[in-house]
Amino acid sequence: MNLDYSYSKLSLLLSGQNSSDSSPIRSVSFDTRKITNGDHTLFFALAGVFRDGHQFIELAYKKGVRHFVVSTAGSTKSFPGAQEIVVNDTLLGLLDLAKHHRNRFNFPIIAITGSNGKTTVKEWLAQFLGSQFQVSRSPKSYNSQLGVALSILEFNSKTEIGIVEVGVSTMENMIRIREILKPTHGILTSFGSAHRALFDSEHEHLSTKMALFNTVSELFYPDHLNLDKGIAVSTDSNPEIIPHFKLTGDFNLMNVQIAISVAAFFGLDKAKLQQVIPCISPLALRLETFAGNNNNIILNDTYSLDFESLRNSLGYQLATAKGKKRYAIIGVSDASQQHTYEALLNEFKLDGYYFHTQEVSSNYQFHDSSILIKGDRELKMGTLANTFKEKNHQTYLEIDLKAIRHNVNYTKSLLSTGTKLLCMVKASSYGSDAKTMGRFLEELGGDYLGVAYVSEGVELRKNGVLTPILVMNAEESTFGDCVKYSLEPAIFSLKQFESLIKELILQECANFPIHIKVETGMNRLGFVASEIKTLIESIKVQPEVSVKSIYSHLVESDVLHSEFTQKQINLFEAISTEITDNFPYQIDRHILNSEGIKNYTESQFEMVRLGIGIYGGNGTKQLRPAISWLSTVSQLKEIQPHSSIGYNRSFISEKKRTIAIIPVGYADGFKRLLGNGNGGVFIQNNYCHTLGNVCMDMIMVDVTGLKIEEGEPVEIIGKNQTILDFAQKSKTIPYEIMTSFSQRLHRMYVDQ
Ligand SMILES: *Cc1c(COP(=O)(O)O)cnc(C)c1O
Repeated sequence: MNLDYSYSKLSLLLSGQNSSDSSPIRSVSFDTRKITNGDHTLFFALAGVFRDGHQFIELAYKKGVRHFVVSTAGSTKSFPGAQEIVVNDTLLGLLDLAKHHRNRFNFPIIAITGSNGKTTVKEWLAQFLGSQFQVSRSPKSYNSQLGVALSILEFNSKTEIGIVEVGVSTMENMIRIREILKPTHGILTSFGSAHRALFDSEHEHLSTKMALFNTVSELFYPDHLNLDKGIAVSTDSNPEIIPHFKLTGDFNLMNVQIAISVAAFFGLDKAKLQQVIPCISPLALRLETFAGNNNNIILNDTYSLDFESLRNSLGYQLATAKGKKRYAIIGVSDASQQHTYEALLNEFKLDGYYFHTQEVSSNYQFHDSSILIKGDRELKMGTLANTFKEKNHQTYLEIDLKAIRHNVNYTKSLLSTGTKLLCMVKASSYGSDAKTMGRFLEELGGDYLGVAYVSEGVELRKNGVLTPILVMNAEESTFGDCVKYSLEPAIFSLKQFESLIKELILQECANFPIHIKVETGMNRLGFVASEIKTLIESIKVQPEVSVKSIYSHLVESDVLHSEFTQKQINLFEAISTEITDNFPYQIDRHILNSEGIKNYTESQFEMVRLGIGIYGGNGTKQLRPAISWLSTVSQLKEIQPHSSIGYNRSFISEKKRTIAIIPVGYADGFKRLLGNGNGGVFIQNNYCHTLGNVCMDMIMVDVTGLKIEEGEPVEIIGKNQTILDFAQKSKTIPYEIMTSFSQRLHRMYVDQ
């Protein structure tokens, strides 16, 4: 944004009040997350559904904003130097400003609306027109009233053409937008389907959209709509340009035809159009389309659910189904919402639709269909969509959420009430994928999550995890992200502590949560006893931080009645008491990991750290194994006597055998030392050992005498061969096996 207003001018404009503050205002903001430097920014405290912008005034102020538009007088009075403009409704205030701004310009303004393809047409048209003009267009796919206002505020003295996407759904809002935007040209993008007449409700919808165009001098639209004005664009238009278009599908074709027709109308010649068109590429739509199993197409739109976006997605499904059956699975949080969507779903005459209120379940059976999966940004719907994925790699990990629930609850039952539980989700949550597990463990009531690196914590936050997160190896270069994403670093040296303090001062943080790592015997990271005094003094004088916990790590927690462990625990108790005695507030202490919880339960202090026990990976009887590694037989082969198998002829079969080829190799984490009979898999509960060397992507196993077929399920890790068994054969520990599962293995979550 590059505005050229003064605060006093805006004060007069928005509230009729004079102000003596003539500071320049260059941009407006309503989202503190997007403010990097608040100088010359006017912050609108908008009232949202989930939060009220007035609550973010302090944060905006901390980021340097001094000018605010509020609806409650006095909202900024406790912030020295802050100025406020008071209006009745801050959104209407922003729209007023947009209206004023629009009236200062008289270049052409193209408004785009329709059911589907608005953003695509906008971006493609901007690409064409941008080759010849200075174009201002809506950022991203903001198309609400707010988005339109922001688009208008992008206009400046250099702009030659404005392109604005409009996606509001009520007549009242549409008319309001028209009066603010005053478009000179209009585009109606694809609407309904080219292959049938409009439904009744679509007619109504169409008239709402058309209200935007009452005053335009020219309107472009797809020819199947048969409107009696404007320019009807057909998929056969522009025969000299279209052969250079790389994308396929009627939907893309119509969208690009519209963009070309409008660009030509504004004076782009054939040569220019031919030059731009090969560069036109698909947009990453929020709606993800992928090939499903059983020849299905999956439309994964699990970002948001509301009436308008459901209509859009159903329209898109209709336009792209190409004769396949159409199904929809709609995620709703409770059954009372169902009737809101039923009429709309019925209107689209689907072959079936389902409301999905359950947790992960994969009981749906579809083939040769287009399946729309639609819901809020909830873990479960996205996971459901994944279960329909075509598994191009037939080897996958199955993660049993029910077992994990049991393991967490069992662990809790060992602890005294009030002892907190930290769940370790480092290293992709021991191979099981931290995004999903973080959310799941949060639901199970973990008090803390633990990760090794800041980047792992950022990933969790980006996936909506709200639980406090302890970062064990926070590197100095990542402290900025600790603040930004509320990640709590462990402090293990004075040098690292000082550099954290510098960052916190810079960011004006107070009481930022930190954890102290103390060394008791591992000889890894941590403060040794002799450094503790200095550390305490350093922390005491820094209001920037507040100590949440003190911890250490056991060296041999799997050994019962270990003297060394007892020494570690005693030392930890002494050091941590020295620290807690020096602070007036509560500080938690923790030293037990999974094995420690089992063997040294009495030393649980105020918190414990559960890692491998979550997955039942350490062989503890009361815990259930939660991870299975599964595959299927790719091919069966008869081997003649004296034939060799695999690379380097390391195995030569003296007799006739049947071998099975399994699509798993060392690139998946199936260690090479398991070749030549040192390891194996289970097929129909029979152990089948490897023959020859393990390849990168395959192994060959002996199935002589078994009655099996190609496609037969294979267990690599599961009830016959536990992670512990597999690790022992691989001459390592379960931790290494779990963290070596390759990323290419599909993770499938089951909860049955
Ligand atoms: C990984 C880790 C844990 C979890 O250990 P498990 O043996 O998997 O329970 C606990 N504390 C620290 C410091 C760790 O690094």
